[in-house]
Amino acid sequence: MALKIYNTLSKKKEEFKPINPGKVGMYVCGPTVYYYIHIGNLRAYTLPDVLRRYLEYLGYEVRMIKNITDVGHLTQDDLLQGDTGEDKILKKALAEKKTPEEIAHFYEEYFHATEKEMNILPAHYFPRATAHIPQMIRITEGLIKKGCAYEKNGNVFFDVTKFADYGKLSGNTLKNLKVGARLEEHPDKKNPWDFALWLKAPKEHLLKWESPWSLGYPGWHIECTAMSTEYLGDTLDIHTGGEDNIFPHHEAEVAQTECYTGTKFVNFWVHTRHLLVDGKKMSKSKGNSYRLEDIKEKGYSSMELRIALLSSHYRSPMNFTWQIMDQAKSNLETLNNFYARLMNHEVKLNEKLSNLTTENYRQKFEEAMNDDLNAPKALAVILRLINDGNKLMDENLLGNSGEVKKFLETALKTFGIKPDVLEVPEKVKTLAEKRKSARDGKDFKKSDELREKIEKLGFTIEDLKDNNYIVKKK
Ligand code: AMP
Ligand code: ZN
Repeated sequence: MALKIYNTLSKKKEEFKPINPGKVGMYVCGPTVYYYIHIGNLRAYTLPDVLRRYLEYLGYEVRMIKNITDVGHLTQDDLLQGDTGEDKILKKALAEKKTPEEIAHFYEEYFHATEKEMNILPAHYFPRATAHIPQMIRITEGLIKKGCAYEKNGNVFFDVTKFADYGKLSGNTLKNLKVGARLEEHPDKKNPWDFALWLKAPKEHLLKWESPWSLGYPGWHIECTAMSTEYLGDTLDIHTGGEDNIFPHHEAEVAQTECYTGTKFVNFWVHTRHLLVDGKKMSKSKGNSYRLEDIKEKGYSSMELRIALLSSHYRSPMNFTWQIMDQAKSNLETLNNFYARLMNHEVKLNEKLSNLTTENYRQKFEEAMNDDLNAPKALAVILRLINDGNKLMDENLLGNSGEVKKFLETALKTFGIKPDVLEVPEKVKTLAEKRKSARDGKDFKKSDELREKIEKLGFTIEDLKDNNYIVKKK
């Protein structure tokens, strides 16, 4: 069975086929770096990461580009009293007279550090919008030449009536829009639903560039057209983003790119539904906007957050609760223990030895992932394997622990889950072995003393049914 992905453009699951055999070009709408990324953003970045990992599992060579939106439409006033006003670091930056560039770099660093902690593979390139202004100007010039865009008073707008397919991605066709979408007003627009490609900068605007039309700054949508086509060509295999990006951002990207290149922009549009917290949209004022630090402060790890984010399908809205984190914690513990057990497992010759048919689990795992990346279902297959494997090990009957371990590692790599393999010091290992001999010889006094010694060193022992044991962190 081949990989099928839900395509927002066709509104159905389609078999994935790349433009060039064996190679995949992927563009991910990246962060706006004027604030810390939150766990909702992390959901939107975990999906393309798992998609990329699974494509690599299937043998594709993937090239991923993720942009950094550092062209905020910031004014000094925004910096002083905008929605970042609560942010101590930004206040400090302002007090220290930091520039918007320095602030953007600060949040960009935070974004990279958070992705790393979440084990999200780094994109092959992270282009910054501010480094691609000449490309945006070139495309805007081309669009004016083709009659798809017009200039007035130093501002340039895309004329949506010139793109017959406008609305094909979001369903917001011009006919539907007339019924009442909320759109930005601007006195220089011909139609209210035209969108800006270039805007003349008011005096107080901090970031501005020379252009054929005015000293100004680009519209938001044009940056993704410029950067995606620059690094991946006119047609992309896959473009991802959160559901809020579908309109107007991605609809505008389709219109301007296809007008400019005259060819199809994206074969597969993949969108993640939003993450809600306690059933509500995250917002700083409601106090329900979490970032990785908040999760860690409550005693959960980044790997547990990753498992939690994978525990619901990317096309279902996800409601984040602490119960979900508890479940993820327990699943990670099950997984770590099983992995540790496999690492230490010695196959004891026994005529009733039985092999776990990893091929069956592999098939089920692939079936789930091929069905529009059903990670929660694939994760359930792995938990079933763990359950079955543990039962066999309890009876000392597992004959192919090496093969099971290899399959488990491949599956976990696809999820981006790193099992936490505990580094046990030699001293603790020796004490644990001595304790086992004491127990085997029914010298429980000695075995208890040894347990105490082990605990003093910060470790503990869990005895298993098969007369084996696992060393854990206390
Ligand atoms: P932004 O920095 O606001 O441009 O957002 C970066 C990415 O995160 C975009 O793809 C958004 O669609 C996505 N995103 C923002 N909020 C959420 C959320 N609550 N749940 C899932 N994705 C989100
Ligand atoms: Zn974008």
